[in-house]
Amino acid sequence: MSYSEILFEKAKTVIPGGVNSPVRSFKGVNSTPIFFSKANGAHLYDVDGKSYIDFIGSWGPMILGHQHPAVLESVRSTLQQCMSFGAPCSQEVELANLICTLIPSIEKVRMVSSGTEATMTAIRLARGYTGRDKIIKFEGCYHGHNDSLLVKAGSGALTFGQPSSPGIPSSLTEHTLNLPFNDKEKLYEVFSQNGENIAAVIIEPIAGNVGCIPADTEFLMALRKLCDAYGAVLIFDEVITGFRVGLTGAQGHYNITPDLTTLGKIIGGGMPVGAVGGKAAIMDHLAPVGPVYQAGTLSGNPVAMSAGIATLTQLQQPDFYKHLQAKTEFFVNTLSAQAKEHGIPLVINAVTGMFSLFFSKEAKVNSFEQAMTTDVAQFQHIYHVLLEKGIYLGPSAYESAFLSSAHDQAVLDEALSAFDAAFLSLKTHLG
Ligand SMILES: *Cc1c(COP(=O)(O)O)cnc(C)c1O
Repeated sequence: MSYSEILFEKAKTVIPGGVNSPVRSFKGVNSTPIFFSKANGAHLYDVDGKSYIDFIGSWGPMILGHQHPAVLESVRSTLQQCMSFGAPCSQEVELANLICTLIPSIEKVRMVSSGTEATMTAIRLARGYTGRDKIIKFEGCYHGHNDSLLVKAGSGALTFGQPSSPGIPSSLTEHTLNLPFNDKEKLYEVFSQNGENIAAVIIEPIAGNVGCIPADTEFLMALRKLCDAYGAVLIFDEVITGFRVGLTGAQGHYNITPDLTTLGKIIGGGMPVGAVGGKAAIMDHLAPVGPVYQAGTLSGNPVAMSAGIATLTQLQQPDFYKHLQAKTEFFVNTLSAQAKEHGIPLVINAVTGMFSLFFSKEAKVNSFEQAMTTDVAQFQHIYHVLLEKGIYLGPSAYESAFLSSAHDQAVLDEALSAFDAAFLSLKTHLG
């Protein structure tokens, strides 16, 4: 048995399913997880000493690669002073200021400790601000594991959502409408019938949790227009896309301004951080100035803030995103050509620094339904070939992959030759 297997056996006796977040269990690829002990730049090292090129980057945060010297230095220097006060510190002001300066739609920002907390707070704030209950979300968008957002579509055209997990009362999710992503007609229909009751619309402008699916610009424009017309709060969940697709996130990419934005992942530089920010007029409804309650023991933790400050500072280097974009394009274009050469139907969606592979015969993947056409068995086949060759992708056919500034040409070339071999193996396998 490998040490990873031994650890997993032990883990299962003391942690439900042996993992602290379900996708890590490798169920999505019919296998057992790898345990890691070290990371550096674009590489991960498992407890058995094998190295991998990392295409997860902790699900997005590690955009500078692992153990970036500037981030380490910032964290170390804060650690010499403190770990946590549960009281105000200068670092939280500095990170808030950076976020407000870099993202024009964010006038004020509240720090929390995870993306889930950020979206939970955004929804509560929108409800408190509008005095309405209903919210709209979209199929395939993930906003953390909040009760009112963990919802699947109800049957019938306009029924309200059903809980997608036991433990969530349907009286909570009945206020959540789950609509098809990128479906403008449906959106107009729902607003014309329920518009006056809708507190908020929450969307990942570039969906990243069902693979990578950018919203159509027209769809987001319609969303902005309808929210304005009906007085609903437009929330962009940019927990992945914030500081990933550019310094101004997806809202800058599309040039569409939300009322509230949720952030996480990159702004913590690898530490547990989330944030909700937006118009001061809405943000000031939060306690202690306003009546909407929200709090957190470790919110604005100085060590976590320091990792975020250093990360956002690095991201402002000239041409950071230009390089990341060029790298992403080179990588996915080459993958595309390889798959074509081996006769494997493959749709690749990509935006700066993130991409996903759909083993689908569809011409494009633009919706949740189309994402579901990906051939999971084909993904699983290449997954295990790649893993063996030291390429670490998210262990599920429906996850995005992430690139960092540490993925240099040599790393990309090595990964590409592994992918080429994996596609060839799949071709042989399919006969
Ligand atoms: C990861 C993610 C979340 C949840 O963040 P956690 O820190 O895991 O709670 C919310 N929204 C989106 C878009 C995410 O990708």
